[in-house]
Amino acid sequence: MSRLNLLSRFSLMTAPRKLMDCGFRSLVRSAALCLVPALLYVSAGAQSAPTPHAHDSARAGRASNAQLSDPKIEARVEKLLRQMTLDEKIGQLVQYNDTGEAPPPSPAGEKPATEQAGGIAAVNPETTNHVNAMELAATGRLGSMLNTVGAARTNTYQHLAVEKSRLHIPLLFGADVIHGFRTIYPVPLGLAASFDPEMVSGVSRISAEEATTAGVRWFYSPMVDISRDPRWGRTVEGAGEDPYLGAAMARAYIRGYQGDDLSRPGYVAASVKHFAAYGAAEAGREYNTTDMSEITLRQVYLVPYHAAVEAGAATMMSAFNALDGVPASANPFLLSKVLRGEWGFNGFVVSDYTAVMELMNHGIALDAATATRKALTAGVDVDMMSHFYDTQLPGLIRSGQVPMSVVDEAVRRVLRVKFATGLFEHPYAEGSEVTAAVPAHRPIVRKAAQESLVLLKNGKLEGGVALLPLSNSVKRVAVIGPLADNTGEMIGAWGGAGSDRDIITLRQALEERAKQMGGAVVFANGTDIVGTSQNGFAEAVQVAQSADVAILALGESSVMSGEAGSRAYLDLPGNQQQLLEAVVATGKPVVLIIFSGRPLVLDWAAKHVPAILEAWYPGTEAGHALTDVLYGDVSPSGKSPMSFPRALGQEPLYYNHFPTGRPPTGIDLSKPPGGDSRFFSRYIDVPNDALFAFGHGLSDTTFAYKDVKVSKASIGLTEALHDRSAPLLKATATVTNTGTRTATEVVQCYVQNLGASIEQPVRSLKGFARVSLAAGESKEVSFDLGFNELSFYDLKNLPTIEATHYTVWVGGSSLADQKATFEISSTSKGVQRAR
Ligand code: BGC
Repeated sequence: MSRLNLLSRFSLMTAPRKLMDCGFRSLVRSAALCLVPALLYVSAGAQSAPTPHAHDSARAGRASNAQLSDPKIEARVEKLLRQMTLDEKIGQLVQYNDTGEAPPPSPAGEKPATEQAGGIAAVNPETTNHVNAMELAATGRLGSMLNTVGAARTNTYQHLAVEKSRLHIPLLFGADVIHGFRTIYPVPLGLAASFDPEMVSGVSRISAEEATTAGVRWFYSPMVDISRDPRWGRTVEGAGEDPYLGAAMARAYIRGYQGDDLSRPGYVAASVKHFAAYGAAEAGREYNTTDMSEITLRQVYLVPYHAAVEAGAATMMSAFNALDGVPASANPFLLSKVLRGEWGFNGFVVSDYTAVMELMNHGIALDAATATRKALTAGVDVDMMSHFYDTQLPGLIRSGQVPMSVVDEAVRRVLRVKFATGLFEHPYAEGSEVTAAVPAHRPIVRKAAQESLVLLKNGKLEGGVALLPLSNSVKRVAVIGPLADNTGEMIGAWGGAGSDRDIITLRQALEERAKQMGGAVVFANGTDIVGTSQNGFAEAVQVAQSADVAILALGESSVMSGEAGSRAYLDLPGNQQQLLEAVVATGKPVVLIIFSGRPLVLDWAAKHVPAILEAWYPGTEAGHALTDVLYGDVSPSGKSPMSFPRALGQEPLYYNHFPTGRPPTGIDLSKPPGGDSRFFSRYIDVPNDALFAFGHGLSDTTFAYKDVKVSKASIGLTEALHDRSAPLLKATATVTNTGTRTATEVVQCYVQNLGASIEQPVRSLKGFARVSLAAGESKEVSFDLGFNELSFYDLKNLPTIEATHYTVWVGGSSLADQKATFEISSTSKGVQRAR
């Protein structure tokens, strides 16, 4: 393969996605999108003087990652820093991707895009500014690279940095490895549906092992943004709407990527993103602004980031969005006060892609110098792709607008991570390069995919038997739809370097099975994902009629979610709904499998289709995992990490909402209001609740809950506030498998706090456990509840517990109805035993 070909495979930022099939699947940045008009208005206050850098609290002894504050590393950092010129220091703070070797010189007189009237390049300033990353690496003026993967390519750059540059400082190669490198597992939303942090750590581990063989030592993952609005395309990359689940997932990824020693071979530094509250983009529109109370920010949105920092995340990525009017990438409150000051974060912060440049579009900087000063002094250490830090910092230092100490501190943070990851000792790609899905990893990602599937509905056929699992009498299966045999679409929005060639589709897996077990599979595409032609409908109807069961594989293409994948409609795209209706009209039993990066509106299907399975994007082993569940080899155990709306207008719809003064208690919301049922918090045309609730997911068996209890009926307030890490009480329940098959249930514990000084959600998840039960078996499951689970943020934005009443539910979804109560009492009666 020629060098040029190799480059084009991995220089993604301008490559159309189709060309990237055997390369690295990342963001597609089309040249056509290059010019984003700059806002001209900048308020006077926005140009204010730099704020002094807060001293890292790491240095005050509260380091979030002990390895990064190791005195041996600190000594090496200081020694190196003393030898560095200003250019070399700034070099550590800039990041580019791989555009190839010497780019063509700029045509005479052409101004860089940043200086062109009316627009700044928000897509690839590196190209438009003719940045030569190779030359920068060789001269010690480049600190890190993004989405440059492959042992040959990363080693080429690394040799330049390590052998040619004056101080031999290695480059750090970062990449969007979000749900697998070569062996692809389910998208993060699907992983969250497993409620299985241990499994998530396991799959994160294998992607780190695979990617380090290609030279990648830094993942732009996990994305821990809470998303309450599925219109937002990046919903697919996170853990959904709940902070408790989001925090558990965040910790799991960090454990998998970093382990407890970043320098070990096969481990990578994590970059938690996007700090902060990106998931609250107004109206679900990508890159849109966010505005919320500090209480909601702290109680909901910051929770998973904080968990990731506590788990030792080495780096953080600042977000594109503004929060309450201050862009996150120049936000001293977020980056200095909360992240470093309160949480003791001692890693480094990298901006999101051109986020420093975008400060001009946000209207808080009139020029590149101001944007640079604001970002760096707020706490953004590394400038990803803006081409601002390298062009602006020399002047800012000379004029005294940015103190040298601020640059030095940012450089220290970067060097600490480079030393801690062992890059100086092992700068090159490790071991023999993984270039395809790894056979030994297939069973692991197959299990992950099985656990991610959520059985939303499983109706009974005539005779009272549930449609799923498919019975042995099903001999002829019709598999229909544009996602039934579509390798590329099984990978999902951020499939790393996953290749279509490695994917097992649903159709392939059903055919494999039919060969082994007997039976026949007939296939019809029916329609395209986004199509209007009904030419394939007749064949689809005919294959359905010829079969015992029809399995429809419908949904979104993977580019309909992910970055820049916001949607204003959440229905099945194209004419898939019509195809579904045509197949259902045959009267054959239909299993609908939905592939999507978000909950879709499935109202019609919920009324007319007997079985619905949400598959998200399951990855390399998609087909096998689906057939395992369809045939009952494995009982489905996934639970939805988001509420499925009945209608788009309900969004943002989330289960842990605040109460209202007019709850429609006892009113039949399926009927339009009349008489005395109008003046309530309700819609006149759709019920308030979710079609499928958060935490909902069926199994091949049934579970019953009883004996929900708490270990104490009353706890003194003094005790509750005394030791914030110790459990205060236990909630227990007995769960029984009342069906005929062994299965796993995700037992969930919810809490409501009534009587506090400010209102609290109607219920919030505060514990979960995956419990396997044989038919007829019972187990007692318990959850520790302590300060973390029972506290809330008060009007001073501090976590507290007050003397109030709590209700605890334990059950199989956010609709759990078995409960117990206890109180936090202001009198010092001491601890009472539960009655
Ligand atoms: C995305 C980030 C990603 C970065 C690098 C940005 O556009 O928002 O999530 O890590 O690009 O590819």
